[in-house]
Amino acid sequence: MQIVIFGAPGAGKGTQAKILSNKFNIPHISTGDILRDSVKRGTQFGLLAKETIEKGELVSDDLMGDLVMETLQNLNSNNNGFILDGFPRTVNQAEILLNIFRTLKIENPYFVVLEADDDVIISRLSMRRACTSCKAIVNLHDIKNHDVCPNCGEVGTLYKRKDDEESVIMNRLKVYSASTIPVLDFYKDKFNIITVKGTDPIDIVTSGIIEAIEK
Ligand code: AMP
Repeated sequence: MQIVIFGAPGAGKGTQAKILSNKFNIPHISTGDILRDSVKRGTQFGLLAKETIEKGELVSDDLMGDLVMETLQNLNSNNNGFILDGFPRTVNQAEILLNIFRTLKIENPYFVVLEADDDVIISRLSMRRACTSCKAIVNLHDIKNHDVCPNCGEVGTLYKRKDDEESVIMNRLKVYSASTIPVLDFYKDKFNIITVKGTDPIDIVTSGIIEAIEK
């Protein structure tokens, strides 16, 4: 099973992708995670991408296309599925992804769109924290003790990503509406698009996606 999960930053793509990855036993490929990992490891690619990510801008389509092609190609030989989160983010990337699917003979991927209004996104992202230890993403609204990661129990490991600062959030939303939303129009007659409200409780969003997929 191949799933592409699409939506604004903070719409819940990462959360849902992790759940679906476990349920269907397919790897979660997050371009944001791959980039952050490259930054952390100080690779040449990471050094190129760091400033762009921290400003909430987009890394170049060519670099991203090569990264996704290489990642999916490596999977394809011993795995029949994946959930792709964070790509495509431009119409050019959407075209690149069609070519990748053609090359890898992927015929009917599911394209899942999580819808969320800007005010919910701003509130979610500004309260979002990541854990340096287990990489969980948590929302301070949902936990009582803000010093302890609710996933791994480590103390003092929750931090705010630079791109979750308010000014960067606003830029990410601007980039999303200018560059990423047009992907939906480009794909509307190419894929069967599943649209789910991303602001519902997590389990309702998950069951909405699964029902639509299993239909
Ligand atoms: P995410 O974790 O998906 O929100 O991604 C974090 C950041 O990584 C984005 O704000 C971009 O700077 C960069 N990024 C991730 N995926 C892409 C992509 N497909 N194209 C360009 N930049 C990307």
